[in-house]
Amino acid sequence: MNIPFVDLAALHAPFQPAILRATEDLLSSGLLMGGEAVTNFETAFARYLGVSHCICCANGTDALEIILRALDIGEEDEVIVSANGWMSAAEAVRLVGATPVFVDSHPLTYTIDPDLVEARITKRTRAIIPIHLYGFAADLSPIVELAHARGIKIIEDCAQAHGAAIGNRKVGSLGDAAAFSFYPTKNLGALGDGGAMLTNDKALADAMRSIANHGQLIRDQPLRLGRNSRMDALQAALLSIKLPHLDQWNRQRKMLAERYRQQLTDTSAILPIIPDDEQRHVHHLYVVRVPGRDIVRQQLAAEGITTQIHYPYPVPTLAPFRSLPSAQDTYPVATRQASELLSLPMHPTMSPESVDYVCHTLKNVLGRL
Ligand SMILES: *Cc1c(COP(=O)(O)O)cnc(C)c1O
Repeated sequence: MNIPFVDLAALHAPFQPAILRATEDLLSSGLLMGGEAVTNFETAFARYLGVSHCICCANGTDALEIILRALDIGEEDEVIVSANGWMSAAEAVRLVGATPVFVDSHPLTYTIDPDLVEARITKRTRAIIPIHLYGFAADLSPIVELAHARGIKIIEDCAQAHGAAIGNRKVGSLGDAAAFSFYPTKNLGALGDGGAMLTNDKALADAMRSIANHGQLIRDQPLRLGRNSRMDALQAALLSIKLPHLDQWNRQRKMLAERYRQQLTDTSAILPIIPDDEQRHVHHLYVVRVPGRDIVRQQLAAEGITTQIHYPYPVPTLAPFRSLPSAQDTYPVATRQASELLSLPMHPTMSPESVDYVCHTLKNVLGRL
């Protein structure tokens, strides 16, 4: 049995007629950049999240960088980022000339540990970028409280958590600004690259919109140095087709995660945190921790099961960051997790029988260790 890690062809198959129609519409209108398709998606996504302003851009990493620039964060400034997770936040901080300061991950949520943040704050700290990692909506309230008492901004990295919420507050509405990615494998993905920036602050929204478009809000009148980070009209049109299905896909992921949990409970695998309400976890990835991870991974592959590692190396150990002052410290939780984390197949069109096969095989493999 072959179990792919994700299956985008199956996800998109039912949408082929709608996607082709949207493509034909754009071809005949000739409006390929910006325009109504992008505005419509921005309005729909802002409403979905319950945030006043959404500005689309070229990808999630650009979204983080543009938010930092819009907040005037640059040289002499420090930004607190997570030691475990995808590197984009640390990368964006360096690209604007500021210094990333790492914080170790929480043993259960895998994202920034709120108890370790305060010790990392200095006079130069301007922002904190927590990641809602693997789809789990991290409770930011302790960090928000700390930050706002000191005039520090919270930028949520929501690239893995479209639709995740704490109570009736969706991620993307919990901080001062938020970045989303629509990379094809994300919970809401385009058919190529895409990103979005969200905020309730009108002045910040204007700054972000201008920076993403050569510093202009009005054509040929740049207000500042900007860059080119637009979203294609085609990607926006496709995202508008997919957005109404996001909640259903997230429910499907949740059902599969529950099926994994039931069957893997009595094994040596450490399972993801159990969410306390319906939308708290949107299971972008189903990440377990296992002893002998690399052997387990090989043996699963031999049985046709594709797994991945998110992420094999803590961010402070990566070449572009390892000479930073805070990279000289140790990150015991992130370091240990990096050697144990294993992402099992998870996508909304995965069948329950495929989950059963992965569980059955994984149990056999763990039993033989
Ligand atoms: C995917 C991802 C990003 C970056 O998004 P791109 O669109 O690929 O630039 C940023 N942060 C996290 C946590 C991600 O998973």
